[in-house]
Amino acid sequence: MTIALGDRVALITGASSGIGEAVALALAAAGVRVALTARRADRLQTLAQKIEATGGTSLLLPGDITDEAFATDAVDKAAAHFGRFDILVNSAGIMPEGGVENADLAQWRRVIEVNLLASLYTCRAAVGVMRSQGMGDIINISSTSGRRATGLFGSYSTSKFGLTAMTEGLRQEVGGQGIRVCTIEPGATNTALWENITDLDLRHSVQLRAQRDGVMLPEDIAASVLFVVSLPPRANVSELLIRPTSDTGPM
Ligand code: NDP
Repeated sequence: MTIALGDRVALITGASSGIGEAVALALAAAGVRVALTARRADRLQTLAQKIEATGGTSLLLPGDITDEAFATDAVDKAAAHFGRFDILVNSAGIMPEGGVENADLAQWRRVIEVNLLASLYTCRAAVGVMRSQGMGDIINISSTSGRRATGLFGSYSTSKFGLTAMTEGLRQEVGGQGIRVCTIEPGATNTALWENITDLDLRHSVQLRAQRDGVMLPEDIAASVLFVVSLPPRANVSELLIRPTSDTGPM
């Protein structure tokens, strides 16, 4: 079954900022009805106004995506409100520093909760409704850090390696039911993500590296999401690595 992009419904986590916000705008501009979730309700409200000013349709579902009941409910509410559920984009994420020797265990747990478990909750909830439709797209925003670990960001890399593995496992589980599953692995992108780094020297060094190697814009990642969901149903981009052109380092 093929459903035109303009008839589809999406839920985007992390929609209050950066990549999630850009994905919401891009999907809405393509006619997709978008459910938006993140904790900052005021930012979601502003985004919804932008979307509606250009003729789009949105539903606001503010809350903490690490709350399993909330995450499950967000999928169910989006499906019930719009009458179908086609696209899930998990973009919520945090990137504080986090090595092993001096591990702040509470922070490690938080990173795993936001970057990995929250996506598990929404994916699990989405599969049932997508299976009943015989189609759907699940896109999890991992990172180049899900392919190559970085010492001082051990918790972040661990969460993203886990997310990539969970996503590929899900693809193998549900592809036979018409559900496409994709991991997008962006390199450096100009967003607020690095503001989570509390060690100012470390944050500065990350910013310097980005200045040297270049950064993408959130819109670039949003364009890759649109590409993935626009392909014919028979084709599943299962992994999409996207980096700044000027970042010429090896993966
Ligand atoms: P931003 O900081 O701009 O956005 C992060 C989003 O996650 C915000 O909308 C924030 O919303 C949401 N979020 C964080 N914690 C929670 C929570 N507990 N519950 C609900 N929402 C939460 O960063 P990016 O847009 O850059 O990050 C988006 C994704 O892209 C992340 O998964 C990140 O790892 C990934 N990525 C980013 C790269 C980059 O260079 N920027 C590179 C590779 C991957 P709120 O605070 O309102 O809850």
